[in-house]
Amino acid sequence: MLGIAGTRVTTCPVIWLAKDRSPRRTALFVEREGVLRTSGHVEDLFVSCVRQIVDEGVLLVILAHSEPPDCGLHDAEAHAIILETVSYLKERGIAASAFLYCTHPAEMQCGCRHPQPGLLHSAASVLKLDLRSSVYIGASIADLEAGVSAGVATLLVDLQNAENYAETFALAHDALAGSSF
Ligand SMILES: [Zn+2]
Repeated sequence: MLGIAGTRVTTCPVIWLAKDRSPRRTALFVEREGVLRTSGHVEDLFVSCVRQIVDEGVLLVILAHSEPPDCGLHDAEAHAIILETVSYLKERGIAASAFLYCTHPAEMQCGCRHPQPGLLHSAASVLKLDLRSSVYIGASIADLEAGVSAGVATLLVDLQNAENYAETFALAHDALAGSSF
């Protein structure tokens, strides 16, 4: 399939699922850009803040709404990025359950691209999640809009503000701990 300006685009979304997953139906969704990483690096702050939530059996689902220059990656390229991130987390004791990646540029108006809620709905479908008891931590207004459209409790964070960031994950933890799903 050829997208704008002849850019080759992927089947969408590119989905990775862990073989061993918690039986719970509750997820913590995190946006890759601005929540899990900045400047291409996975943040130590993310690793430390997410640990308790994952240890309690909540499924960690990573969402990537691609920003330039990642737009228009081939499936294999997106998959390589996914595996690199998942491996990095696993080495630090954090088991991700799923990673969903929309590589389309904004001009494609893909239903998976924020502010559309397609990635959240795809994740809910493949993992049989209960969105109403799940939480999405995003980093942009477009993330917030996608979460609200999907009916997920949505929180915005600023990775540059470590105190706000940790408090937001604590809020997410409390909301998820109250769920018996
Ligand atoms: Zn897409």
